[in-house]
Amino acid sequence: MISRFELTRFWWLKSLLKSRLLQPGLMLLTLFFFVVAIVAGFFGTPAGSRNFGIIYVWIVWWALLIIILVPFFGRLWCTVCPIPGPGEWLQRRGIIRRTPGRPRSLRWRWPRYLRNIWLQNFGFLAVAIFSTVILTRPNVSAWVLLGMILLAVALSIFYENRVFCRYVCPVGGFIGLYSLTSTLELRVKDTQVCKVHTTKDCVTGNACGYGCPWLVFPGNLERNTYCGLCTECLKSCPKDNIVLNLRPFGTDLLVAKGRSLDEAYKALIMLTCALLYSAVLLGPWGWVKDWANMVSLSQWAIYATAFLGVNLLLVPAVFWLTSAAARMVARLEVPVKRLFIDYAYSLVPMGLIGWIAFSVSFVFVNGSYAIAVLSDPFGWGWNLFGTRPVPWTPLLPGLVPILQVSLLLVGLVISIVIAYRIGRQHAQSHTQAWLGTLPVSGFLAGITLTFLWLYLG
Ligand code: SF4
Ligand code: SF4
Repeated sequence: MISRFELTRFWWLKSLLKSRLLQPGLMLLTLFFFVVAIVAGFFGTPAGSRNFGIIYVWIVWWALLIIILVPFFGRLWCTVCPIPGPGEWLQRRGIIRRTPGRPRSLRWRWPRYLRNIWLQNFGFLAVAIFSTVILTRPNVSAWVLLGMILLAVALSIFYENRVFCRYVCPVGGFIGLYSLTSTLELRVKDTQVCKVHTTKDCVTGNACGYGCPWLVFPGNLERNTYCGLCTECLKSCPKDNIVLNLRPFGTDLLVAKGRSLDEAYKALIMLTCALLYSAVLLGPWGWVKDWANMVSLSQWAIYATAFLGVNLLLVPAVFWLTSAAARMVARLEVPVKRLFIDYAYSLVPMGLIGWIAFSVSFVFVNGSYAIAVLSDPFGWGWNLFGTRPVPWTPLLPGLVPILQVSLLLVGLVISIVIAYRIGRQHAQSHTQAWLGTLPVSGFLAGITLTFLWLYLG
């Protein structure tokens, strides 16, 4: 039995979450910074370290997202993300008040074969093969940000609700998977109340709130993956049956219902990308960085092919063999494909912590640029808050490797425990579950050693 602490028992928090002002207010605030990032990208200095679009998106926002928001608050970023804002406000013909009727769109139906996160997997990889360019060239970064907002608006015109967030956004895909680990969840208080509540206002909407824009029925929620924490159901549920809970880290990883191949691939892709990014951006091979940075198109094409091959074929093939070995060693009477999918969820803590370890290195080293850029976001010589002269100062450089090693070891232990508990769902005994965990632990240990080798040399 998982212990939970209901946060919405605090009346002030509940009132805040039910307010129609809160979410759009925060989205407008993030939209302002988003626009500044785009303007800085197009018209600001081309020096990445002096440009708001690079420093505040790829260092400050990224660090906030991966180190704090996702592990502790799950999809909280999706609550305030500005990207779907303009499209959603167009659909609703308003920003704050609840406009009457259903949100407007051309009501096209999203193809059934795309109702999964494969598009998000491929979208993430597409961004990843260009990432060295995106992370260092402000104008490319601005095009990516602008492209995402325009795509979200276009999809809002054709399709109802937040199709962009649910099926397309490459960032939303991994936030959803990693929010399985988060210590925050939105759930119904009593599923029985939902079963007998025939009008299902949380789905259809009512005068207090819109029907779930993420196409979720809160009464069935058992995992965080597809709830965007938009707070609409808190407003629309007339039975006051929606709650926000604190719960232990990694709770949803043990929920068997809803596991799927697209999510398993997402877990593998994220873990592999964390390793490859560490190798390309932090490793000692300058030539790999040049190839990734598109110094020559033919060399970049080789890099991109290798990057995709490792992500989509090599690592999944190794993990498939690992799952087959687990089946054989533990004599599990489950298809290898089932084990491949289920055990992939044990890679989620390792992947998330791998990304945190990777991020720690450049956040500690380059984070101080944010202080100067705050006063001069476009690199035009402004000094808005008097912080422009603050020099680049790496923060506690001696601490970075210690933090990385500690994080990776913690990630390894959590992942092994999750692998065992997933194995236990298929095994008849503890011994059988531990035997099944052995090959997966070998895979995880191999990944950890590769990270350590890359970080410690
Ligand atoms: S409106 Fe409330 S009680 Fe009714 S189905 Fe939705 S969450 Fe359950
Ligand atoms: S379940 Fe509720 S909070 Fe989650 S996306 Fe749907 S309406 Fe928003």
